[in-house]
Amino acid sequence: MSVWRDVIGQEQAVTTLRDAVADRARMTHAWLLTGPPGSGRSTAARAFAAALLCPDGGCGTCHECHTVLDGSHADLTVMATQGLSIQVKDARELAQLAQHRPSVGAWRVIVIEDADRLTERAADALLKALEEPVERTVWLLCAPSVEDVIITIRSRSRHVRLRTPPVAAVAELLTRRDGIEPAMAEYAARAAQSHVGLARRLARDEGARGRRRDILRLAGRIRSLGDAMEAAANLAAIATQEQSASSAERDAAEKTRLVEQLGADPEARTQPPHIRSQVAALEKEQKTRATRFGRDVVDRSLVDLLSIYRDALVTQAGSPVDLVNADLADEVRTLAGALSSEQLLLAMDAIGTARERIEANVPPLLALEAMAISLRLPR
Ligand SMILES: [Zn+2]
Repeated sequence: MSVWRDVIGQEQAVTTLRDAVADRARMTHAWLLTGPPGSGRSTAARAFAAALLCPDGGCGTCHECHTVLDGSHADLTVMATQGLSIQVKDARELAQLAQHRPSVGAWRVIVIEDADRLTERAADALLKALEEPVERTVWLLCAPSVEDVIITIRSRSRHVRLRTPPVAAVAELLTRRDGIEPAMAEYAARAAQSHVGLARRLARDEGARGRRRDILRLAGRIRSLGDAMEAAANLAAIATQEQSASSAERDAAEKTRLVEQLGADPEARTQPPHIRSQVAALEKEQKTRATRFGRDVVDRSLVDLLSIYRDALVTQAGSPVDLVNADLADEVRTLAGALSSEQLLLAMDAIGTARERIEANVPPLLALEAMAISLRLPR
């Protein structure tokens, strides 16, 4: 048992981090861990933190290891933003905290899970802390790629790159850690294209599997302009379903908790003004979170949609590469028969464009409609 065992398919990165734990000369005060979504950036950061705080360099069984991995260790701070950006106020707090010596362990470890979401001002607030290292404080910054991180931050940290883990490694993790049937784990790992969190959800949630299939089936059904509008509306609706399924309950619970903390009755019809304003602030935050989450869900749907066109190309080429959507082989064949390879590539471009536009804040439905029009099959 070692803290590294759930960091899968990352031999090179793990070697670098382990060496830093073992040899102080290879240690540095700021690390930037990058890797595609679902590759396990935050899992790797937590494992590294545990290894630094464990007296045995990351045994995986002691009290230090356990408390780091479950997030309760006194010398570990994890900043995981729910909002669209990390604000200057939070960055200042972290920079302050960095000045303090660790309370029980050898290091004070500060993890920023979405370093790409630091606003420019927040990054400035951190800069001084990164420029003037404090002896026993270490920063672990996570982001999808170095380009996503403000250059001044990037240049002051050591970069470790994670790759997309192999399907087999993701499947093995789901079986070992989450007790999922091997066949289901294999399907989910492949369908999620090795995104660990997504694969686990697919494996556990039949509704999620159904929504995914519904999205993929749209590809072979768009012929007329009307079909395109309908497909775009369906895609948007599926995303909304997914979004509300996961947030409604949590939002309500957060609100109840806040009102209770403020010493009022959550059941009361009307609340005193000072409570109303705090509730309004929470609701605003929740709305921001929902917007971000909704955008992420649409983006994931588009990644799914891309995979069926990719499979059609693979089929046309007669390539021995595994299909992502082996369970939808008929739909893949239909697409491969209906479109030339050039048309398939154009379709993939259209999906890529929609992703970029949504990322750039174009209203999703608008971007999806434009995309769906480009996905029409020849009559
Ligand atoms: Zn340990």
